[in-house]
Amino acid sequence: MYNVKSLKAEEFIDNQEILDTIEYAEANKYNFEFIEELLEKARPLKTAEGCVCRGLTHREASVLLACDEPKYIEKMYQVAQEIKDAFYGNRIVLFAPLYLSNYCINGCVYCPYHAKNKHIARKKLTQEEVKAEVIALQDMGHKRLAIEAGEDPVNNPIEYILECINTIYSIHHKNGDIRRVNVNIAATTVENYRKLKEAGIGTYILFQETYNKKSYEELHPTGPKHDYAYHTEAMDRAMEGGIDDVGLGVLFGLESYRYEFAGLLMHAEHLEAVHGVGPHTISVPRVKHADDIDPEAFDNSIPDEIFTKIAACIRIAVPYTGMIISTRESEEVRRKMLQVGISQVSGGSRTSVGGYTQEERPHDTEQFDVSDQRTLDEVVKWLMETGHIPSFCTACYRAGRTGDRFMSLCKTGQIINCCHPNALMTLTEYLVDYASDETKEVGYKMIEEELRKIPKENVRKTAAENIEAIKHSDRRDF
Ligand code: SAM
Repeated sequence: MYNVKSLKAEEFIDNQEILDTIEYAEANKYNFEFIEELLEKARPLKTAEGCVCRGLTHREASVLLACDEPKYIEKMYQVAQEIKDAFYGNRIVLFAPLYLSNYCINGCVYCPYHAKNKHIARKKLTQEEVKAEVIALQDMGHKRLAIEAGEDPVNNPIEYILECINTIYSIHHKNGDIRRVNVNIAATTVENYRKLKEAGIGTYILFQETYNKKSYEELHPTGPKHDYAYHTEAMDRAMEGGIDDVGLGVLFGLESYRYEFAGLLMHAEHLEAVHGVGPHTISVPRVKHADDIDPEAFDNSIPDEIFTKIAACIRIAVPYTGMIISTRESEEVRRKMLQVGISQVSGGSRTSVGGYTQEERPHDTEQFDVSDQRTLDEVVKWLMETGHIPSFCTACYRAGRTGDRFMSLCKTGQIINCCHPNALMTLTEYLVDYASDETKEVGYKMIEEELRKIPKENVRKTAAENIEAIKHSDRRDF
């Protein structure tokens, strides 16, 4: 139908194709035979080399999303969980956002950083403040950050972002270096992406906000972000600049969710076809109440049940892509989302600039309300109590297993022999260095049980030895 490779992202993620997809999904949503077929096709297949998943096209996955028959929704959840178990196991990667600056020249109507907001306190961290924030995050036990900033070439130029990354990587504090800095900054040039790559970033994250060009232009009326094509093609420039882990996302609630879902999957198809590797992660943020934003203005907010179904359908469609949920969501919603394929969560987050060094959660520079306000220790304990291994692992990144090299690890089902032991070792580090006594108790018990699941005997033995060594302050990974 399309020559995917020859089209730019903006051309490929075509309005008419999205509308046709929605119509096709509507026409097939009670075609249960077809839905069964799709679910069967999406299930993990055991092969001699490991496990494979075929995923679904944007059209096929949109049929699942449109189906509102409870029996089939339940089946979707089951298949999503099967896929998550097959490729990621029960590990959940933890991270925290670090807000560097809320100076912004854009006019995004849903974001309190918009340039016309005159009463939000504007703040940009100095390098000393970056250091203090990072030490506060390290003292909680974090190893992986996502840095966030508004778009302002005068106050937050690329040089400032690079300086902050450099500062973060150079802090060696007690037990805890930050080992991976992911970056969520505005769309930029190939040259700047190259500089970010050279600075050693992990994933470059950029939310599309909406794939509906008309709405996009209305929601971003002023500033550089107004340019839909420039924003939509950012990931291609990032990949051209050498960044091979990119993170997609839409801000659910701005436009109709079926539209966004099809657009998001088409974007993933575009990256896979053109660059040979799909998105490393997909984030699923929902628009939240924020300062100077009219909460009534976004009438496309989606209910929790639909939100969960979206996550399950993403998991089914792009089985090898990590999926991220932030503290925008409550404990209850996060619990449900974990059952349908989420692989990364933030914990102990503050969305204000300089928030981690304050005793009380500050609101004056905050980007949006945080629903899950638990501490990292509480989130870690909760994850284990709900059957998940909290992982602080960054070994792939340090060993250069990014882009398609990470994907091949995932596709050959080797996560259980590599990521699983690494997760247990980094969890041990966390328990030794930071956990409360109650969390330690739950954690050590879980580690014992999880070690037994490692299939290769030599790997299991080495992991057990490493864990013992870590308990005695000797740090290792695979
Ligand atoms: N300035 C960069 C950009 O424009 O992409 C960095 C992103 S901003 C700090 C991070 C993300 O927060 C945005 O991409 C947007 O999706 C999200 N965001 C903005 N306002 C929000 C709100 N009211 N509720 C939830 N998320 C919001």
